[in-house]
Amino acid sequence: PMKQTVLVGLLIKETILLLESEAHMKGCELHCEIFDPYVTIGIDVKQIKQVLLNIMKNAMEAIEETGDGRRGRIDISARREGRYALISIRDNGKGMERTTLNRLFDPFFTTKDDGTGLGLSVSYRIINNHGGIIHVDSVPNEGTEFMIYLPYTDIKE
Ligand code: ADP
Ligand code: MG
Repeated sequence: PMKQTVLVGLLIKETILLLESEAHMKGCELHCEIFDPYVTIGIDVKQIKQVLLNIMKNAMEAIEETGDGRRGRIDISARREGRYALISIRDNGKGMERTTLNRLFDPFFTTKDDGTGLGLSVSYRIINNHGGIIHVDSVPNEGTEFMIYLPYTDIKE
């Protein structure tokens, strides 16, 4: 796999651009805050963009699924945390019960009629292959936060 050294903030902004119009059509606000602009990571860019897209799409779907017309909001942030770059993706969607949380990363696990249940199992494997970790916090009917930790590298001149 091709690894490139990239600025986390740029990676996130490029990924957000890909989803902006879809989010806008669904009345969902995307907010982005980069706390440590110089954090770089050595990654397979295509793969990590796919992970971010999977998680942001799930967030939009979780907002749609509330069906209560709430103002959707997704907050994406990046900061340095120890030896990791931490990317957080938080939504105010339907949240998850414990039973869903327990099976979240299982291949083919889905709660959607047209879901594949592959997005998160693939994402987990990709992050793991990069020496990273995914954490999830969720509160039913309030929302969910995915935290992606990827090993930090210094900027190369
Ligand atoms: P799919 O999106 O095809 O269902 P995923 O692997 O992407 O498969 O997600 C698996 C399941 O995890 C989803 O069906 C959903 O129940 C749950 N899930 C994932 N992200 C969220 C989220 N942000 N909010 C609520 N539930 C979520
Ligand atoms: Mg999905």
